[in-house]
Amino acid sequence: MSQPQNPLTERYSQLQTRLRHAEQHCGRPSGSVQLLAVSKTIPAEIVRHVAQLGQRAFGENYQQEATEKQAHLSDLNLCWHFIGPLQSNKSRTIAEKFSWLQSLDRLKLAQRLSDQRPEDMVPLNVCLQVNISGEQSKSGVTPDELSRLAAAITELPGLTLRGLMALPAPCDNVDQQRRVFTSVRELYQGLIDEGHQLDTLSMGMSGDLEAAVAEGATIVRIGSALFGARDNKR
Ligand SMILES: *Cc1c(COP(=O)(O)O)cnc(C)c1O
Repeated sequence: MSQPQNPLTERYSQLQTRLRHAEQHCGRPSGSVQLLAVSKTIPAEIVRHVAQLGQRAFGENYQQEATEKQAHLSDLNLCWHFIGPLQSNKSRTIAEKFSWLQSLDRLKLAQRLSDQRPEDMVPLNVCLQVNISGEQSKSGVTPDELSRLAAAITELPGLTLRGLMALPAPCDNVDQQRRVFTSVRELYQGLIDEGHQLDTLSMGMSGDLEAAVAEGATIVRIGSALFGARDNKR
């Protein structure tokens, strides 16, 4: 008789299957889309459980919560992405404790992060958060600012520009989801055409990962489909 599985173990395996199906469905190689487990509001011990299942990359939105969790999990070799809005006065922690910042949206912040990145660490990987129409929050770079900002960031020694991140407003209609992701992919391609060497298109969450994968996402950021619904919808 098989043992009943821990629900988290079960959800992790279902999510992997869902992601592989999404890749297969649009003819992309299996494993070409990276899963970022979004662990905001999730206690360190639950993160540890998911890490034990083989998950390495975790996304956090709140600087203080994240650094406390990192301290509890410092015995594990995890890769931390900061994906939330970032105030300039919190930038040092991000520069010192994270591998990635996906929510970069202004040059001042980029310059601070570059200066604050410790010299014995590889440059901080960054994605510009792009604000396409229908964006939930006010944060993000508008499409017309993108080119100039990308060029300026490439000059900063402490940062490596890897690509774009998008956070569209939730929407149940798959065609509409695809349209938004198409426009993000076109902006991404535009930067590549300008000579930027990019490899990261971070888009797709629990409710729209299939549409994002079909439009070329290389990272999907998944919270609730893995950890369950957050009671506090921050
Ligand atoms: C919370 C969050 C996610 C995950 O959302 P789910 O719908 O729970 O998968 C992804 N990206 C960002 C920026 C988030 O804040």
